[in-house]
This record gives sequence, structure tokens and C-alpha cells, in this order.
Amino acid sequence: MAAERLVVVGGDAAGMSAASQARRLKGPEELSIVAFERGDFTSYSACGIPYWVSGDVEGPDALVARTPEEHRSRSIELHTRTEVTEIDVAGHRVRALDRDSGESRWTGYDKLVIATGARPVRPDLPGIDAPGVHGVQTLDDGRALLDSLDRAPGRRAVVVGAGYIGVEMAEAMLRRGFEVTVLNRGAQPMATLDPDMGRLVHEAMDGLGITTVNGAAVTRIDTGPDGRVTAVATDGGAYPADVVVLGIGVEPETALAREAGLPLGPHGGLLTDLSMRVTGHDDIWAGGDCVEVLDLVAGRTRHIALGTHANKHGQVIGANVGGGYGTFPGVVGTAVSKVCDLEIARTGLREKDAKAVGLRYVTATIESTGRAGYYPGAKPMTVKMLAEYRTGRLLGVQIVGRDGAAKRVDVAAVALTAGMTVEAMTALDLGYAPPFSPVWDPVLVAARKAVSAVRAAGTD
Ligand SMILES: Cc1cc2nc3c(=O)[nH]c(=O)nc-3n(C[C@H](O)[C@H](O)[C@H](O)COP(=O)(O)OP(=O)(O)OC[C@H]3O[C@@H](n4cnc5c(N)ncnc54)[C@H](O)[C@@H]3O)c2cc1C
Repeated sequence: MAAERLVVVGGDAAGMSAASQARRLKGPEELSIVAFERGDFTSYSACGIPYWVSGDVEGPDALVARTPEEHRSRSIELHTRTEVTEIDVAGHRVRALDRDSGESRWTGYDKLVIATGARPVRPDLPGIDAPGVHGVQTLDDGRALLDSLDRAPGRRAVVVGAGYIGVEMAEAMLRRGFEVTVLNRGAQPMATLDPDMGRLVHEAMDGLGITTVNGAAVTRIDTGPDGRVTAVATDGGAYPADVVVLGIGVEPETALAREAGLPLGPHGGLLTDLSMRVTGHDDIWAGGDCVEVLDLVAGRTRHIALGTHANKHGQVIGANVGGGYGTFPGVVGTAVSKVCDLEIARTGLREKDAKAVGLRYVTATIESTGRAGYYPGAKPMTVKMLAEYRTGRLLGVQIVGRDGAAKRVDVAAVALTAGMTVEAMTALDLGYAPPFSPVWDPVLVAARKAVSAVRAAGTD
């Protein structure tokens, strides 16, 4: 009989990273670990779904990093198809429902990890549940979409939403031979960028043969006599569809936590301290898409649903519940994506984020190439940089381009984390050879222009 029991709710990135890390630190005689996952899969990569649908990678098994059996072989008592329906904080126990037998039972815990992820936004519109309308949140969703593509009566796909999942799914459907229309409620695709950079994405999508309709609010899904989707109706007209993919965004999955009286932030995510312990609760930790994270540049919490954070949270939680030590200081808001060969990257604040927290800033936008201009295959890239007025502190970078554009943002992420000024960035010793960059890397060119903008803005 183990001295303590850890219960984990949610069997993907954050939950199973926490469980695995705790198990590395403590053997089963010291710590028993019980994990509940309501689906069939554990430790799976939802990030790979667009590339599975496009045909670039195999799925679903290849997208599973660790199966339930593998976790069990590491002495983690894992219950799949089992949903936690209640957390009794005072009683230190959770109630779990076995979805196959319909039986519910209570399990006590000494330590609890909540890693319930996020749920996709699914507006309550007529026809939203019709056959042929698909989310892409889970591997089951990916499988259902692929089956639906085989049964689609025609080759017209409508993607609702133009965030990173929307644009990745637009590429996937294009690669599957569909005629793709993306319906976007905002002014430009990729609202995580400033509109001037989003416009570049829009133009590139046009060039790829993807039709993007901005300012389109979906009002209804139309269906045929067999009940299957036939069109997506918006306030500006209807778009015929043989298949519809929803990529409208996600919200933290915190209904359980809310009912248990645990503290939620302004974006609906659980609030934690730096050790990922739920604020005010010594025995409860939370991580991944169900929590809010501190934005180190803006100085306030945000909800950012990314696997990169979820895995790190899991490591930190596992270290702490396993008797070690770890902290997650926060994020600078780095994200990369692509649509076909167009790479899209951002870190730090957009103009509207800076305004929202009262920061005055200057911007600098430059055009460059990913390789020396004379080197074969050099392709254009646009870098936009925000720096703080007066101090010149770097506030954010957005990059849209091809051939190595996206991962250049990592340099800016490091500079942001280190609190560098754009002037200090100009002296960064970045690698150069003609096949990899011009002699002045595009990020450095942007930093130089930002230095000039800071100086020109003066110090009034
Ligand atoms: C299409 C797509 C592409 C993506 N691409 C990227 C990318 O390129 N880069 C990136 O960083 N991130 C990406 N993400 C985001 C990334 O997948 C998530 O941030 C990550 O999976 C979050 O991990 P998590 O463990 O917090 O939550 P989830 O992965 O959502 O896992 C939560 C788990 O908890 C289970 N659960 C929930 N409630 C209960 C309950 N009451 N009882 C039992 N089980 C429960 C759920 O079934 C789920 O398996 C992508 C996501 C999608 C959908």
C-alpha cells in the first residue's frame, strides 16, 4: 500500500506528463497514481491532426506518444473511457463515471492534478450537429473527418474560423483535393497577428487558391434531404459545402473546477501559482489548456491553448507532486503555424495588446529574405517589430514569409524573455552563411529599423 495517492484528471499532454514525471521521481510503493481519461487515447498529439488529414503523416496511432498500456506498464493505474464528474474538495475525492458500464464511484486523493484541457467553441447554430460538420479537437474527430471526406458527395470544403487551426485545416483540405473557402469573422485571417500582417496571410492564401471571406458571421448550417450539410449560411450569403470544418477557437474546460469552487480567472481558466498549484489549495495542481498563464510582457494572465505549455506544465507539476521542485514563470506568447509553404509566427504583444495594457510603442516593418538574395531559393519574408517608446524594450515580433521564416521568431522570444532592447538585439551574434540568411538576418534588420523608430519618436 503506497503512502500517498495522486489522482490525475485528463490523460493527455499536461496530465500524463505530470503523472510520468511524478512516477520517475517516486516509485509505486511511495506514490500510487490513478489517472482518468474520458476518451480512448492518452498522450496524443492533436497538433498532428491537420497533417494526418492532409496525408503528410499517418494516424491515429503515429500521433500517440504513449498508449494506455504503456502508461500502465509504468505503474500508472489508468482508466480510459472514464469521466470525472465531480470533485469533492473538502472530502479529498473525485467521482468517476465508467462510460461503458455506467457505474460511478468515488476515489480518494492526497494530491490532485486537473488537466482537463480545452473545449472547442461550438456555436449553438441551426444545423451545427449535421453529418459533414466536424471539429478537429481529438483523434476521434480526425478519424470522423477522414471518414466524412470519403463519403462527401462533392469536393467543396468550408472551414469556419481563420486562426491557426483554421488555416492549417484549409491547407489539409486543399491537399485532399477540395475547393476550400475559409469563413472568417475578423477583418483578416490570423487574428493573433496585427491586421497588416494578417493581410499578408490573406493574400498568400488567395495565391494558394484558398478563398477567404473576412467579416463573415455564420448564421446557419443548411442541410439536404438526407440531413447532410449542403451549405454554410452567413449574414452576407451562403457558401455551398460538402464538408465543414470548425476551427473557431477553444475555451478552458473548467466546468468541473467551477462546480468544485476552485478559483477561475477572467478568461475562465484555473488560477495557479508559479508551481502550478491551484491558488489557495495546497493539494491541487492544474496545468495545460485548462489554466490561465502569466503573460510576462503584458503582466497579466491570458488563456493560451498550446501543447508546448501543457507539456511544460505537466513536467513542473510532476516534479512538485513527486517531491522535487519546478516552476513555470509564464509565457511571452510565441506561436508558429503554416499554410502550405507560407510560415506564420508571432511572439509578444500585438499593437492592440500593447494599447490594452497602457504601453506606448513604435513599430518597424521590413522586407527581407530567408537566404542571401543571390542564393538559389531565396524567398521574401516580412518582419514586424514593436518596441517600447523611450526605453526601446522589445515588445513583440510577427513574421510572415517562406523558407525558415517561422522559427526565426525564437530569437525574438529569447530577447523578450531576457527583456532586451531592440538596440541590444542589433548586436546579437546570429549565425550567417548565404544558404541560411542574408548577412544581416531579417530579425536584425527589423531591430535596426526599430532602433531608428524609437529615436525618431523622441522622449516628449
Ligand atoms: C488541430 C489542433 C492543432 C494543434 N496544433 C498545435 C501546435 O501546432 N502547437 C501547439 O503548441 N499546440 C497545438 N495544439 C494545441 C494542443 O494540442 C493543446 O494545447 C494540448 O493538447 C493541451 O494539452 P492538455 O493536456 O492541456 O489538454 P487536452 O489535450 O485537451 O487533454 C485534456 C484531456 O482531458 C480529458 N478530459 C477532460 N475532461 C475530463 C474529465 N472530466 N474526466 C476525464 N477526462 C477528461 C480529455 O478527454 C482530454 O483527453 C493544437 C490543437 C489542435 C486541436
